[in-house]
Amino acid sequence: MEWACTSCPTINKGTDLNCVTCGNPREKKKKKEAYRLPENLEAAEVTDAATRAVFDAGPNWSCESCGSDQRKPNGSCGNCGAGNPTESGSQAPVPEHHESVRHDPFPASFEPEFKPPSKAASIVLVGGIAAGLIGCAALLFFLLWPRDVVARVESIAWSHTATLRQRLVNSAEGWQRSAPSDAYDATCERRKSGTENCHPRDCNGKMEYETCYDQCPRSGTENCNEHECNCHVDRSSCKEDGAGGADCDEVCDECYDQCPRTGTDDCNPHDCNGKMVYETCYDQCDVFENWCQYRYDTWPVATTKTTSGTTHETFWPELTATGNDQRLERSETYEVRFSDEVDRWTYKPDGLQAFARFDPGTSWNATVTVGGVISPVAPVQTTVQAR
Ligand SMILES: [Zn+2]
Ligand SMILES: [Zn+2]
Repeated sequence: MEWACTSCPTINKGTDLNCVTCGNPREKKKKKEAYRLPENLEAAEVTDAATRAVFDAGPNWSCESCGSDQRKPNGSCGNCGAGNPTESGSQAPVPEHHESVRHDPFPASFEPEFKPPSKAASIVLVGGIAAGLIGCAALLFFLLWPRDVVARVESIAWSHTATLRQRLVNSAEGWQRSAPSDAYDATCERRKSGTENCHPRDCNGKMEYETCYDQCPRSGTENCNEHECNCHVDRSSCKEDGAGGADCDEVCDECYDQCPRTGTDDCNPHDCNGKMVYETCYDQCDVFENWCQYRYDTWPVATTKTTSGTTHETFWPELTATGNDQRLERSETYEVRFSDEVDRWTYKPDGLQAFARFDPGTSWNATVTVGGVISPVAPVQTTVQAR
């Protein structure tokens, strides 16, 4: 370090206790003579062991009589001869000057705010779907949920239909595979129906190659031999030792040399491992199938008769099939018409036995859906009348 003489314009070294020009002793109490870091820290570096030993001996002590700085090893003031009050060790050395700069690493208020991704959106979506499903189920339940009614049989109706069919013999010819399954009296011959692939063989052969590479030495250079460089004294790290010196850290950059690259790379791509690859070719061969002349039956309607009524006396149309060339088909429908004070419903029993239960004028316990489908359960006992 250095200090400025207050008696003349000389700047003295930290090792000097007296001004080298005028002999004025440095005094710790004079702020203008305080130790300070020189402009060029590199030039001020202490390299010889003797000077270093002066600084390592500890802080200067201040003479109580004349105020001049004195080295610790000296028993008495070199300036006026007074004794060293700190020699007994009772007085701890006080650092005379502290250039301290606080560096807060970060402002305390700065903390990245982390919010977990909101799940609200997906909850709303799932909730909406669930609500929709529940709504559909509720609507279906409402439509199908029957209510109880007492309904009176207003009227009944029945209808019987008989259909007489007459056999018709048809002649046809065609490929056996597309003839009806109930064809008969067939006479067939072999005919050419087309061609198909046959005699597979390799054809249109061509060479196919893989891609191979040579190995070539790498060109250019790469970083190597990492070492420190651009070293300089870090001014902010310097700590005063109280004896006119300071301990400072040195900071350096990382530097590299440039070395030729080692190893090899793929290079010179070229075709290799060639082999023949073939397609499959076919001849076209004739295909023969059965071509047939045959007969088959259809049953067109010859006569249809219907009977109907509004009582329980049912009967069928007078229509009968004779021999193997005629067929008779029958179908039947029944209806029961219910009503109460407000509504009317039509019920369709699925057979004569079910139809016979409903007498006009009787009342029935029944259920009715919102959709208007009535289901009779049982006659109302008190109103059953003798048949
Ligand atoms: Zn001086
Ligand atoms: Zn003195």
